[in-house]
Amino acid sequence: MTSDESDDLKAEIARRRPALVELRRHFHAHPERSFEEHETARTIAARLRASGLEVTEGVGGTGVVGLLRGTEAGAESTAAGRTLLVRADIDALPVEEANDVPYRSRAPGVMHACGHDGHTAIALTLAALLADRRDRLRGNIKFAFQPAEERVGGAAPMIRDGVMENPHVDAVIGLHLWSPTHVGEVIVQAGPFFASADMFRLTIRGRGGHGAMPHLNVDPLVAAAQIVVATQTLVSRETSPFHTAVVTFGEIHGGSASNIVADEVRLSGTIRAYDARDREHLSRRLGEVARGIATSLRAEAEYEVGPGCQACVNDAAITELVRRAAEATVGAERIPAEDGRQSVSDDMALFLDAAPGCYFLVGAGNPERDITAPHHSPRFDIDEESLPIGVEVLAHAALEYLA
Ligand SMILES: [Zn+2]
Ligand SMILES: [Zn+2]
Repeated sequence: MTSDESDDLKAEIARRRPALVELRRHFHAHPERSFEEHETARTIAARLRASGLEVTEGVGGTGVVGLLRGTEAGAESTAAGRTLLVRADIDALPVEEANDVPYRSRAPGVMHACGHDGHTAIALTLAALLADRRDRLRGNIKFAFQPAEERVGGAAPMIRDGVMENPHVDAVIGLHLWSPTHVGEVIVQAGPFFASADMFRLTIRGRGGHGAMPHLNVDPLVAAAQIVVATQTLVSRETSPFHTAVVTFGEIHGGSASNIVADEVRLSGTIRAYDARDREHLSRRLGEVARGIATSLRAEAEYEVGPGCQACVNDAAITELVRRAAEATVGAERIPAEDGRQSVSDDMALFLDAAPGCYFLVGAGNPERDITAPHHSPRFDIDEESLPIGVEVLAHAALEYLA
């Protein structure tokens, strides 16, 4: 893209900015939880149709797919053109909004506390913008509006419903607005980017009885305590020092009174890793260590893990494409050089597994404007300057990919 074309694109996005912000605020005010995004999906479908895209609703539950066929000379049949998928997640969270803003959530106990309202508005604005430039697209752009990211449930049914075919998807891109990163910065890097996440459950069974006579009982609480401590070594002693992983116990329940030995203790937690072998090793070993300790203490451990979500792994070539797009948008100096990996997970991983692609982060925080609340917090918000940046990076990437 020449610098004149680049300036045109910036001007066009600036022109669309008020509508983009208004759209984001509309979705923010009307959040819907995972797989309940019916009104959201209706709005998306109507907007896509108005922009002239082919629309399929009910993909993977409440998902919506919009297909934009490019008409660049020679791509008329599109058989020769490639297809790029742009993914946006659309669901909200069971959080009561604590922000006092005009676009505050109108749904009690439901809030767009992760920025998916912004992702949806960005993708719709991009669809409209690229539809106006379809004569410059040699190939297709498929917009996948994915339900239920927060429950890690929406990507798999969309893929099962065929979103990667007809036409076949050659590459995927997507973004997450990111409040820990300052607005104006973009984080883009190849390789593992978001971690895998697998929830596990442990039940330790002993034999309950009087707290005064422990020798007549089998205490599952003592076994559980040792298991929590011992499994910390799975990362420190069994994972390469050049890799990283997380084992977190989030729950421990057991017992009913101070003078009673409990019958059983239930624990749950999450395993996170960036490498598929680490993921497999930790998932297996946590159960082995738990069972071994429980047995040695005369108790029994029952262990269940998953099904979770694999790591998001970015393809080198598509990541370079997105990096160039980000440089054209914010400048190379606003793309931090340090390791930008995140220990959270996202089922964008499944799209990235199905086709080479890139997931990247668009800074949306701004301490000067007091926009610092973490994702999923009742005070979460974004600096809306991040919205046109998101559109611009995706537009550059799409236009270059289908040039
Ligand atoms: Zn989230
Ligand atoms: Zn999110």
